Order: sequence, then C-alpha cells, then structure tokens
Amino acid sequence: MPDVVIVGGGVIGSAIAYFLALDPDFNGSVTVFERDPSYEFSTSARSVASIRQQFSTPENIAISRYGYDFLTQVPYHLGIEGDAPDIQFHEGRYLFLGDESQQAAFNKILTVQRDSGAEVDRFVGPEAIAKQFPWLNAEDLAVAHVGLSREGWFDGYALTRAFRKKAISLGVEYRDEAITDFKRDGNCIIAAVTSSGEVVPAGSFVNAAGGRARWVAEVAGIADLPVSPRKRCVFYCETRNPVPQDLLVIDNSGTYFRAEGKGFLCGRSPGTGEDDPENTDFDVAYDQFEEYLWPTLAHRVPAFEAIKQVSAWGCHYAMCLLDANSILGPHPDVTNFYFANGFSGHGMQQSPAVGRGMAEIIAHGAYRSIDLSVFGYDRVAAGRPLEETEVI
Ligand SMILES: Cc1cc2nc3c(=O)[nH]c(=O)nc-3n(C[C@H](O)[C@H](O)[C@H](O)COP(=O)(O)OP(=O)(O)OC[C@H]3O[C@@H](n4cnc5c(N)ncnc54)[C@H](O)[C@@H]3O)c2cc1C
Repeated sequence: MPDVVIVGGGVIGSAIAYFLALDPDFNGSVTVFERDPSYEFSTSARSVASIRQQFSTPENIAISRYGYDFLTQVPYHLGIEGDAPDIQFHEGRYLFLGDESQQAAFNKILTVQRDSGAEVDRFVGPEAIAKQFPWLNAEDLAVAHVGLSREGWFDGYALTRAFRKKAISLGVEYRDEAITDFKRDGNCIIAAVTSSGEVVPAGSFVNAAGGRARWVAEVAGIADLPVSPRKRCVFYCETRNPVPQDLLVIDNSGTYFRAEGKGFLCGRSPGTGEDDPENTDFDVAYDQFEEYLWPTLAHRVPAFEAIKQVSAWGCHYAMCLLDANSILGPHPDVTNFYFANGFSGHGMQQSPAVGRGMAEIIAHGAYRSIDLSVFGYDRVAAGRPLEETEVI
C-alpha cells in the first residue's frame, strides 16, 4: 500500500513525487497515477514554458526566484548517473507594455516587485520606449517594464520527463491508469479507485490533475473547486525580419510573443471578463489569429506585417476562477486530501517551488522553505481572493 497517491503525473505531480522521494526524513512510498503517459494532452507538454519574476503577488515572486535557481541547475538536481537532462534553458527577459489606462497598475506592481527582490527596469513615455526598443511602434504606449534578471524560457516537456525519470530512480512508482473514484470514511479518504476498478488504499492523496482537477475533487466528495479548463492557442510564425531573441513581449492588447527557433511563438491572454467559457477540446481557434493576433502584432511591430503562420496547437489553462492563483495544500476538513491546482498559466515555472512545498506539507505537516500557506484552500472556502493581476 502506497503512503501517498498522486493523481496526475504532469510537471506538478512529478515534481511533488520527486521532492517527496528526495526527502531523507520521509520514508513513505509514493505512487503516481497518470491517465495519459504519452502526455499528448497534458498542459505540461503544450506549455510556452517561460519564467518571469514580474508577478503582482510577493509569494509568486519568491516561487519564481527558487524556480529560476532550480531550472538553471537541472542537470545537478535531476541528472541520473551521468545522464544530464537538457531542458534548453534560454536566458530572456519579459517586456510588459502598457498604455495610459494601465499606468497606475504598472506603478503599483513595480513597487511590489522591487520590494520582493525582482529586478525590473522601467521606461516611461513613447519616446523613451521607442529609444530603448526601436523596432516597436510605441506611439500609443505610456510605460514599459522589462525584467533584468532571472527570466527566460525552456522545454517544459523535457522538464516534466526529467522530474518523472528522476522520481522513478528514487523509488516512485508510476502507473498508467486514471483514478475515477475515491472511498471515504467520514472526513478521511481511505482509497483511490482506478479505471479498472482496483481499490488502492493510501494515507494521503494529492490532486495534481491539471485542467481536470475539479472533476477529481468532485469524485472525492469535494464540490465546487473553482478550477476550470480555459482554451489557450499558441501559434508558431516565421518572418523574414529578425525577431528579438531575448525578449518575451506582452503587449497592452493582451497579445504576447517570443522567439522560438527560426520564428516566434505568439498567443493571446484575454483580459478580465473576456475569457471564453469552459472548454475541453483541443481545436485551434484559427480565427483568433486572423482577427486578433495578426493585427495586434503588426500594429506593435511593423516588421510583423509580413509573417507566415506555420503551425499551431490548442490547450487549456487550469484557471483558478477565484483569483488566478494556485490552490495548494490540504483541504481544511478532509485533511489527507491535498490540492496542487489552478495554476492559471504559470504552473510550469512554479513546479520546483510547489513540488518542494507540497512535499514538505505532506511529509511534515508544515512548509519549511517558502511559506505557501497564502495559497491554501481556506481562502476558497472563505471566498477571499488573493488576486494575481499579472496573468498572461
Ligand atoms: C498555452 C499554454 C502556455 C503556457 N505557458 C506557460 C509559461 O510560459 N510559463 C508557465 O510557468 N506556465 C505556462 N503554462 C502553464 C503550465 O504549462 C501549467 O500550469 C502546468 O503545465 C500544469 O502542470 P500540471 O501538472 O498541473 O498539469 P498537466 O500537465 O495537465 O498534468 C496533469 C496530468 O493529470 C493527468 N490526469 C488528469 N486526471 C487524471 C485522473 N483522473 N487520473 C490520472 N491522471 C489524471 C493528466 O493526464 C495530466 O497528464 C502554459 C499553459 C498553456 C496551456
């Protein structure tokens, strides 16, 4: 009988498994159930996989600080006897662009970021922005923030595989099956039930099911987990004009782009109240590219008027509808059921710190490194948002 069952073996479930197995004071066994071992439909294989320090919640900045340290030393952490995984980490910087209406929000966020140790530079007014980034059309911009350190991007699928492989080498068992039900005794979960009907008793159960988290919570008897799959499409484009290699640009329109291979990746982050309803299909919304992305790209970067859209994919953010922040730690009443859910588009970079923190709270009942208790389920039960405004 495993001591810990983890439902979902994406980057989050695998990071939790790795850190549990690594802990010398935890002697329990860990089993990860993964319904899609190819990861074809897992967010972790379809992510833009970038890391930034520019968040609005101090705890998210602390999480990214540790994330950067871990991600830039993956061969040290996740290597196995000379087999050093390469997640292709690329140092880069996030450039956030704002117009007049966004200036007050930019000012407020900058204070939080600098107070939290994030190094961010600032340019005010179209002339200053155009001087610094001459390839941009800055005429309708009022402010630009650019990260100075600890940002970049990497191969998210390679990171997921590396966590998984290292966890297995440390004794974690992976099983290629879905968990479809749980058995409860009062406020205690006593077993998970697999799709083949096997009953798997354990001491603790972790919901790391990504976009399916709400359904996993529901079969555990926990209703209304405010996590919903929301469609996001990514387009790969090529252009004859060079793309800035070291920047991930977030335009004031919500359009983002960053260099990738010979071209660039781009997509759209819908503003508050603009998101599509819940959706679980993987179809690419090509109309989004024609009607929104291309015009906003060409407006911001005149050289993007001539681009060729080469490929695209659809996937989902596991959006936390309460506040766009993750939900972490045990349920207040069903105390052996743990959440690692609702990453709202920033779970890839958070996997090292979240994996470590979740392992701490499962094994020791308390966070020992970064205190992640602000992300606890209590705020969901109380309807008390911890709002993250920097959602891309
Ligand atoms: C387009 C896009 C771009 C993104 N860009 C970034 C970025 O730049 N930076 C960043 O930090 N984050 C980014 N993200 C978010 C990030 O990729 C996710 O937060 C992260 O991958 C979530 O990992 P996960 O393990 O929670 O979910 P997943 O990778 O979805 O893993 C969950 C796993 O659970 C399995 N599962 C589900 N239900 C069950 C069940 N009942 N039984 C067994 N297994 C089950 C699924 O098969 C899946 O493999 C992006 C996401 C998208 C969609």
